[in-house]
Amino acid sequence: MGSRAFIERPGLATGAPGVQAKAMAASFCGCGAGAAMNDLQTLVLNADFRPLSRFPLSSWHWKDAVSALVLQRVNLVAEYDDVIRSPSRAMRVPSVVALKRYLHLDGYPAFTRFNIYCRDRWRCQYCATDFPPSELTFDHVVPRSRGGRTTWENVVTACSRCNLVKANRTPREAGMSLLRRPYRPSRLELAHAAAPLAREQVHHTWVDFLYWDSELEE
Ligand SMILES: [Zn+2]
Repeated sequence: MGSRAFIERPGLATGAPGVQAKAMAASFCGCGAGAAMNDLQTLVLNADFRPLSRFPLSSWHWKDAVSALVLQRVNLVAEYDDVIRSPSRAMRVPSVVALKRYLHLDGYPAFTRFNIYCRDRWRCQYCATDFPPSELTFDHVVPRSRGGRTTWENVVTACSRCNLVKANRTPREAGMSLLRRPYRPSRLELAHAAAPLAREQVHHTWVDFLYWDSELEE
């Protein structure tokens, strides 16, 4: 089955509706701020200060993060410079929060196109060439028409050319060999594989929490 994306939002995480907190969070606005503030996301860490997930990266809209703060389900870790105001108070938009209660996660990432490419390091598993994501496809090792399933163990990254050449055949029939047998990777493995990719795209307050694993390895 793999795991589902588990970005639990306040109110869903514990089953409590948190209606009052949502109403309170909704009363905050970024009055006078640019429209970009409406898009601000808050990075959500587990109680051990590691992201809940990387793919997709565990983040909430800032209003959800404010709800969780009001409900005291998370601790504030870092803030944006942008200020939000409600009728009774003002605060900076949370940029990073951490759950107060440790959430146990299973060890396997979601089965997605991005994660397949990530497992295979953006490399065609037939010709061993690296490609940008836009030039990659995924291939069923045993074709679907022959009973092959769409699973971690039967889907690999392939370039368009190899995919076309292989067509509706098994690798053996096509005379092509795989770089390695496909398998289900762990979250940690994908985290290491993808870390360099997103480095440029995150707010500076997120960086420490996203990359401390990989830095330890260097
Ligand atoms: Zn190829």
